[in-house]
Amino acid sequence: MSIFHNLGFPRIGVQRELKWAQEAYWAGRQDAAALAETGKTLRARHWALQAQAGTAFVPVGDFAWYDHILEWTTLLGAVPARFGQPDDQSVSLDTLFRMARGRAPTGRPAAACEMTKWFDTNYHYIVPELVPGQQYRVAREDLFDQTREALELGYRPKVVIPGPLTWLWLGKGDAYNGGASDEGKLQLLENLLPVYEQVLQRLQGLGVEWVQIDEPVLVLDLPEAWRRAYAGVYGRLAAAGPKVLLATYFGALGDNLAVLRELPVHGVHIDLVRAPQQLEPVLRVLRADQVLSAGIVNGRNIWRTDLDAARELLAPVQAQLGDRLWLAPSCSLLHVPVDLAGETELDAELKSWLSFATQKLDELRWLAGSLGGEPNADTQAALENQRRALQERRASPRIHNAAVQQRLKGSDGLSRERTPFAQRIVRQQDVLKLPPYPTTTIGSFPQTAEIRALRREWKAGTLSDAAYEKAIRAEIEQVVRFQERIGLDVLVHGEPERNDMVEYFGELLAGFAFTRNGWVQSYGSRCVKPPVIFGDVARPIPMTVAWAAYAQSLTGKPVKGMLTGPVTILQWSFVRDDQPRSTTCRQLALALRDEVVDLETAGIGVIQIDEPAFREGLPLRRADWAEYLDWAVDSFRLSTAGVRDETQIHTHMCYSEFNDIIDSIAAMDADVITIETSRSNMELLGAFEDFRYPNDIGPGVYDIHSPNVPSVDWMVDLMHKAASRLPAERLWVNPDCGLKTRAWPETEAALVAMVDAAQALRKAA
Ligand code: GLN
Ligand code: ZN
Repeated sequence: MSIFHNLGFPRIGVQRELKWAQEAYWAGRQDAAALAETGKTLRARHWALQAQAGTAFVPVGDFAWYDHILEWTTLLGAVPARFGQPDDQSVSLDTLFRMARGRAPTGRPAAACEMTKWFDTNYHYIVPELVPGQQYRVAREDLFDQTREALELGYRPKVVIPGPLTWLWLGKGDAYNGGASDEGKLQLLENLLPVYEQVLQRLQGLGVEWVQIDEPVLVLDLPEAWRRAYAGVYGRLAAAGPKVLLATYFGALGDNLAVLRELPVHGVHIDLVRAPQQLEPVLRVLRADQVLSAGIVNGRNIWRTDLDAARELLAPVQAQLGDRLWLAPSCSLLHVPVDLAGETELDAELKSWLSFATQKLDELRWLAGSLGGEPNADTQAALENQRRALQERRASPRIHNAAVQQRLKGSDGLSRERTPFAQRIVRQQDVLKLPPYPTTTIGSFPQTAEIRALRREWKAGTLSDAAYEKAIRAEIEQVVRFQERIGLDVLVHGEPERNDMVEYFGELLAGFAFTRNGWVQSYGSRCVKPPVIFGDVARPIPMTVAWAAYAQSLTGKPVKGMLTGPVTILQWSFVRDDQPRSTTCRQLALALRDEVVDLETAGIGVIQIDEPAFREGLPLRRADWAEYLDWAVDSFRLSTAGVRDETQIHTHMCYSEFNDIIDSIAAMDADVITIETSRSNMELLGAFEDFRYPNDIGPGVYDIHSPNVPSVDWMVDLMHKAASRLPAERLWVNPDCGLKTRAWPETEAALVAMVDAAQALRKAA
């Protein structure tokens, strides 16, 4: 029997209790005491669940009122000046919420802190704001209170906190313009470490034996100065109080292994799901008194673990290390849903292939029970059961589609090449006859409460297919008429039939399943329910053609067909783990290619394939970028290259850095790319200058994240900036992103102004 533990449990609750409590508190429908009670109940429930599963400790510090990085930032008292400083040195819960969302039931509203993606997950953390000479102090008591809570309930707590180097790396500050790698941030360690030491000492005083200090930045390419800082930092932290388990996850230590060798920590956690190859090298540097925590159950995906393979890998390690081997999920279980038991609508077969957070603890227990001794009868039965489920999954006809596989094998013969852009664009122009500075939108129009109610009733079966279709058509007609009336050039149908840009397609494609309750926290109270891609992807029927063709039938102007790209569908789903992601992505691309061709055949001359998640798919290590970009670009080209020269392909990407991947974006070879630029004052266009991007570009001039209506002059000015960097004949005029979250009045006013701006530009040209 081995020891096993958990790095963190999802905090939201199986019924998203935390979400409802947060939102009720923010809206003033519940007081702070009620919110606190919900948190306490959830922690107690999750600890009980983990302890009953047999974990050696319960994690404390994985709970957060909004985000675990923000918990730590406020514990350190690192509150930006605009939120005010309290007299008594403590930071209130409402200040924490103001930092996260700009406002809270009490306290002055102020601009919220920035939020960004947590490594390559779809979780978002609140970015710490660093300033030179920043002072820290213990400013919140929650962590200590929660530790006491766990102790009083009779558990053995292992307290989880972000490491100082990771916290600094993730932070930003205008004073540190060199970006994340800036050495200036390291100077803050001097002020930071005494507070870390204080926290550790206090935890030891409470009786805490182990602290898990998370340093996931150790799987990134780190500058030398950062790597050098580790030894000194952990020399101090490991001496401060409780034993230190240094946790790394989401990848391999790689060249940072040398850093690890010098750290006097008491244990190390490594990710053996993403990086099984690091087991050997880590074992070589592990000292005789150190614990190895083996992250063996996938904390990022929802498939049942191959426990036989896990045992094979770890049996020799257990023989060597004995009790110094701990088993664990690869990372915190924050990134998977809470409990499979809630999936009452999934069929039994599919369900038997899956494992959510609660089930992953069982897997760890079974694995632990089969290492270093004979498994008992229960464990043996569980292992046998697991083995059978995996075998059935492998052999299941549901995941294998010979036609798809055949086509993919032969897909190298499917063209990815279009005629050169310079020739295509001339032909497209002959057909489309667009004015200079053509105007368009990104796809969605306001999703009104009525539209959402329609879909709800239709899904519930209270609204017939015919009635639903009629209502959606009426909405499309209204959106088309509106666009005609205000004089847009390339119209859209408005996407009223779509709940979500991935779910809509997933529901129509073969190989996808949907959970009823598979929620994962995205940020704060926002949760997402990613589709599950379990089998070969195929497109049994056209997905968007009827809606697009209907919209086109209403108008003489071109209507742009609207699809979600293969990379984005992949990124926002739980993806099967039995084949490379690139294979699944290309299957998605083939399905989309068929849709693109069908749209063209139905008379749609402009087709947009959204890839907002293109950049977020980038691997954490630079060395792995080329391979990803290669298949990501290839998938996009595979989905688009089936059309004639006259058919114009658009793509759209949201706010992101393009500089370091501009060549790949150019290689996607869309005729037009629309991007989010209004907030950055066209600065993002820098990447597209100097012929590094030869095709048409629509730099967004209207920030759709704000209800403010931009003025004509302001948009004209932005376009002048764009025209100073790029040839005017390559430019389009459009908003930053889709309009689905906006209300009609501001949308109408903003688009009218946008068309005016385009007209002004044409006159001046
Ligand atoms: N076509 C989508 C829309 O307009 C694009 C959304 C996105 O980029 N995230 O809503
Ligand atoms: Zn967008």
